[in-house]
Amino acid sequence: MSQTLSNVTLQAALAEARERFVAANPASLAAHVEAVSVMPGGNTRTVLFHPPFPLTMVSGQGCRLRDADGHGYVDLLGEYTAGLFGHSNRVIRAAIDTALDRGWNMGGQGPMEARLARVICDRFPSIDLMRFTNSGTEANLLAVSTAVAHTKRRGVLVFEGGYHGGVLSFAGGGIPINVPHRWVVGQYNDADAARALISAHADDLAAILVEPMLGGGGCIVADAAFLQALRDGAADVGAVLIFDEVMTSRMSAGGQQARLGITPDMTTLGKYIGGGMSFGAFGGRRGIMEIYDPRRPDAVSHAGTFNNNVLTMAAGHAGMTELFTPGAADALFARGEALRSRLNATSRDAGANLQWTGLGSLMTAHFLRGDIRRPADAARGDAGLRELFFLDMLDRGFYLARRGMLALSLEIGGAECDAFVDAVQDFLESRSSLLQAIS
Ligand code: PMP
Repeated sequence: MSQTLSNVTLQAALAEARERFVAANPASLAAHVEAVSVMPGGNTRTVLFHPPFPLTMVSGQGCRLRDADGHGYVDLLGEYTAGLFGHSNRVIRAAIDTALDRGWNMGGQGPMEARLARVICDRFPSIDLMRFTNSGTEANLLAVSTAVAHTKRRGVLVFEGGYHGGVLSFAGGGIPINVPHRWVVGQYNDADAARALISAHADDLAAILVEPMLGGGGCIVADAAFLQALRDGAADVGAVLIFDEVMTSRMSAGGQQARLGITPDMTTLGKYIGGGMSFGAFGGRRGIMEIYDPRRPDAVSHAGTFNNNVLTMAAGHAGMTELFTPGAADALFARGEALRSRLNATSRDAGANLQWTGLGSLMTAHFLRGDIRRPADAARGDAGLRELFFLDMLDRGFYLARRGMLALSLEIGGAECDAFVDAVQDFLESRSSLLQAIS
């Protein structure tokens, strides 16, 4: 098939898949129409939007979701990594019920925050002292501001395609609502270029902020050599190296930093660590974090009404101690590695221009051949095939991110992995002519 002909065929297949989606989801459409009248595009979380309209989810149990029209799905999205414990987990539920029985909004310190902080400090090599926030965005905002206050400098090195929060987004170099730090944007996985940028900005560099794997940027894993170059460079010029482990903290009990043996000065956390409640945290070396010690005459204040909210503290402590134990973290990592390698083998055997990048339980489908080391590589992927894959997977009962990302929860077992590999195989067979023609 010629490239033009196959593109026409792809557009026809997409139009048909979208029509099928619209016909199958009248209740989600009605919810969308209602939402559009009060929120721009009916949306309060950009990532959830997709044309023609997103599904409205109404309930979840274990690894399964149900939408407003009554369809059931295996949830492979895992709430973009915050849903590590699956849906309606009994241990988390019991912890929240106990907290609710005791009361909330008490305007005081609670018994759980130091206990959750203890678990986190014990696990993450870089964290001597830490503080809670309400989201990963806030954690990164605080970490960068902490580095600026600590170093009395202004420059912050980040990387193209990095995502650190709603106002810290570096896809395409940055977005108009980013907070106005003095950003220097480097290329991910280019250690030489990063070294050059660090020396060029040596006198003004407060922080280097990096994800050990670009999560939203396509599950592109950082080379150890790249992260080590940042580690060494930060130490040379006196900048604060911050690992954004909001997504990668799940790679082991102590995150990706513990797996690699590379220790940043500060770490930011978020997502599942609050047991699925709103969560964020930033922490690091004692000498940096101590500025927040209110007993000091020169203490810096960091406020936040909900930083120690009792639901997050209770759910987080139960989740981290009873469910996401170090052994569970290793088992989840291994399950994800095994699934990704099966998906890659299946895609390769079919001769399709499809590959799966990622680490452990996080992975993304890319419709292209060749190495993917930075966002520009991933951008070569075929957007039409990606959308078709998403819609076809919904049709087969699998819920994942439209951009092709999967985040396995602890509830995803062998049967769900087998069923998904079969569904991908089925997709590859039913769409084989398109997949081979478009490269
Ligand atoms: N950092 C990374 C690496 C993330 O993936 C995200 C969320 N996707 C954030 C920060 C922001 O976290 P939140 O959505 O809780 O603000």
